[in-house]
Amino acid sequence: MRRLTPRRISLKKNDVLFYGTDDLMRVARFNDGQIGIVHGAGVIDVTDLCGVEPTEWPPIGPTRLVADFPRILPTLKEAVETRSPLQLESVRLRTPIPWPNKVIAYPVNYHAHGQEMSATYRASQQGFFLKPNSSLSGAGEPIVLPEVPGREIHHECELAIIIGRTARNIAREEAMDCVFGYSCLLDMVVRGREERVFRKAYDTFCPVGPWITTADEVGDPTALRMQLWVNEEPRQDANTRDLVLDIPGMIETAAAVMTLYPGDIIATGTPEGVGPVKPGDKIRIQIERVGEMVVDVIQGTGGYTSVLAAPYQLALAHA
Ligand code: MN
Repeated sequence: MRRLTPRRISLKKNDVLFYGTDDLMRVARFNDGQIGIVHGAGVIDVTDLCGVEPTEWPPIGPTRLVADFPRILPTLKEAVETRSPLQLESVRLRTPIPWPNKVIAYPVNYHAHGQEMSATYRASQQGFFLKPNSSLSGAGEPIVLPEVPGREIHHECELAIIIGRTARNIAREEAMDCVFGYSCLLDMVVRGREERVFRKAYDTFCPVGPWITTADEVGDPTALRMQLWVNEEPRQDANTRDLVLDIPGMIETAAAVMTLYPGDIIATGTPEGVGPVKPGDKIRIQIERVGEMVVDVIQGTGGYTSVLAAPYQLALAHA
């Protein structure tokens, strides 16, 4: 039985409290695109073992790493035992998979969130949408708010599934074999009635991190507590057991439509408690056995478009 040990780690711009043991396999991407295995309070640089060129463009090395992972794993384990770690607090964590084939996202996948949004549909009837890869960012990077006067920008706390193998038209029973691991994900959104993808597509509107915890280390994902705070005020607190369309169902549905590739990311939907963020906020997301990250919110310049000219306020049921 693993004991969970809390550690507070200070990153350059963020404070991260994570619970972990020394034998978890957590794959991180850091600084200029290096790949590391997070081990206790350290990170072991394994970039050279992964066939990843940190500065390459497009940055597809981490995507390929997911596909190659079973083959590389023994070498990674050896490196964890033999190499000196960097202090985790000394590195800047980036998003683990910056160039996946796609980011799939399921809307309204918790009943209580559907009720707060007055949505009559659920993900099980609605299917999914896509978020652009360019919206991905990491734990050590701030969410940059666009200038959209009259609009609220909301946090959505979500579990991310990282796909591990190519799959198409698979049975539900095979779905869990497709999972490489899990991360924390923030599905940021400008509230409104315009196209959902449009409102969720801004750069940095899809923080994923702080790393990928491999599926075998997470174990059963059907009862993971996930929580979100804004400036330490609790906002969201739910459990993956309340998903409307469950994890095998989401994978089966997506793979019925398109080929899933290693490194693909699935945002599994947010529970109730979504709400606005403002510049200077710190969003903390924690998912049991997966990880925890704190992401800064800053004001950017630009981002206004006349599409968003009409003001909109979401009348939240609990507000
Ligand atoms: Mn969402």
